[in-house]
Amino acid sequence: MHELASMPSTEPWYQPTGNEVALFEQCHQRRMAVMLKGPTGCGKTRFVEHMAWRLQRPLITIACHDDLAASDLIGRYLIQHNGTVWQDGPLTRAVRQGAICYLDEVVEARQDTVVVLHALSDHRRMLPIDKTGENLEAAPGFQLVVSYNPGYQRMLKDLKPSTRQRFVAMDLDFPSAENEARIVHHESNVDLATARGLVSLAERIRKLRDRGLAEVPSTRLLISAAILIANGIPPREACYAGIVSPLTDEPSMTSALRDLVNGTF
Ligand code: ADP
Repeated sequence: MHELASMPSTEPWYQPTGNEVALFEQCHQRRMAVMLKGPTGCGKTRFVEHMAWRLQRPLITIACHDDLAASDLIGRYLIQHNGTVWQDGPLTRAVRQGAICYLDEVVEARQDTVVVLHALSDHRRMLPIDKTGENLEAAPGFQLVVSYNPGYQRMLKDLKPSTRQRFVAMDLDFPSAENEARIVHHESNVDLATARGLVSLAERIRKLRDRGLAEVPSTRLLISAAILIANGIPPREACYAGIVSPLTDEPSMTSALRDLVNGTF
């Protein structure tokens, strides 16, 4: 399991796309759990990092996957030479420390794992630890944040209504064209005109979603291509490698995307 605890010393830069900063601050003050909805690479993780910095809370990030067991979140007894010792999992540490706990792609986690979050995400703010008999009350400042990509594997996996309805949901879709160009420019150091070109290319590619393109380019992909361009790779080549090829293997779609690139740069 990938887990990261951090308190950044410098501000993680975030370009707001609506009223999400004020909304999140209210949720934090009112001790409400938050669900960030949006496609992969649209800025959910960066937003949480930025908010943790603004609110001066440590941030513990957990990437969810289908093997994630409740004990991976809560903790387990470890066998040592002189007996067993209890070791807190990342969720328990966040609850004790009053940290922001961010569960990325929560829909990937097994249902019996997600249920662990229930008593933490309502007014009880409790974490029962069955194995030690402890019933832990969340420290002030603790906040549960989950991310969720509504389009992805919607038919296969979804969150139960009993889980969803414990969260205030915030929609973080791709930013407006001007904001997205600003983000690409800021994150890659490419000039603003090229950043705008990449965004207009992305807008055209995103329209192909209903014509057989399973995944559309995220802001993250545009930034990869922009970094290549800023470091001297010719724009077309950077777009093939940074945008087209990661999105599709299918020859006719590849050729359609390459045409769009050639029409832009
Ligand atoms: P997600 O968690 O939604 O998959 P990320 O937060 O990792 O996406 O975003 C991918 C990258 O895109 C970030 O590392 C950051 O460089 C950039 N990014 C996207 N949206 C924003 C934004 N609104 N402000 C600043 N950077 C952003």
